[in-house]
Amino acid sequence: MDLGIKGKRALVCASSKGLGRGCAQALAAAGVELVMNARGAEALEAAAAQIRADHGVSVTTVAADITSDEGRAQVLEAAGAVDILVTNAGGPPPGMWHDWERADFIKALDANMLTPIALMKALLPGMMERGWGRVVNITSQSVKSPIAALGLSNSARAGLTGYVAGTARQVAGKGVTINNLLPGIHDTDRAVSLDGNAAKAQGVTAAEARRAREASIPAGRYGTAEEFGAACAFLCSQHAGFIIGQNLLLDGGAVNATL
Ligand code: NAP
Repeated sequence: MDLGIKGKRALVCASSKGLGRGCAQALAAAGVELVMNARGAEALEAAAAQIRADHGVSVTTVAADITSDEGRAQVLEAAGAVDILVTNAGGPPPGMWHDWERADFIKALDANMLTPIALMKALLPGMMERGWGRVVNITSQSVKSPIAALGLSNSARAGLTGYVAGTARQVAGKGVTINNLLPGIHDTDRAVSLDGNAAKAQGVTAAEARRAREASIPAGRYGTAEEFGAACAFLCSQHAGFIIGQNLLLDGGAVNATL
């Protein structure tokens, strides 16, 4: 399917690996010019080089922490006027409700709620002025179905979800859509690290922990970054202009709900 976005320009945050990289790849495959970001320069440059070679699009890289004011300023300066924004950052660490202090919440809110909000505030006006824009926020299935050990994530992402629900409706009339993609378990470094945590907590091997987590998913497997990226590229396409303020679960059926 021609997504109709060849020649558009996208900022994809936290995209040297995992789900962000899957989104960058899928947008590049649709002919979108990219600005990619991550903290580690080496993996970022490697990912950008691979995408240039595979898809022949221009890729600008900015090695910076997207959750810091300085990092965001650097990224936004390099990005300039973009048509597509994919927000993403690392997720907060797991833990127990009684261990989280105010500082832990502030850090999680900064990374997974206030950073995407700041990026939207910076880039939405240009999109609205030009009469076209797409924003996709990578959040989590925990928005619909809490993951107890990820309370910091549950809290911060719920806040972002509320913001998007209202804001998406304020900008829709100017040709700009904002939607959230909610990953269930995907085969990335983050998932491997959570397998390790589960293994430690249950006194089993990481492979056993993975098998148990796979068995909890009706699809019987983890999702892939490629599948995730394809869904993101569709939400950024010309075909998705009537999809506003939605929360799309990509979880292999893990959240057991009718709606
Ligand atoms: P991942 O494989 O660990 O990749 C994270 C990517 O983000 C890397 O490129 C990393 O590069 C970059 N990054 C992390 N923190 C950053 C920061 N502060 N500034 C800029 N770049 C940053 O993670 P993932 O699995 O793709 O997860 C992406 C998001 O989806 C996370 O918020 C995660 O919690 C959420 N999620 C994932 C799953 C899953 O199963 N994978 C499920 C639900 C939710 P550097 O480290 O070099 O910066």
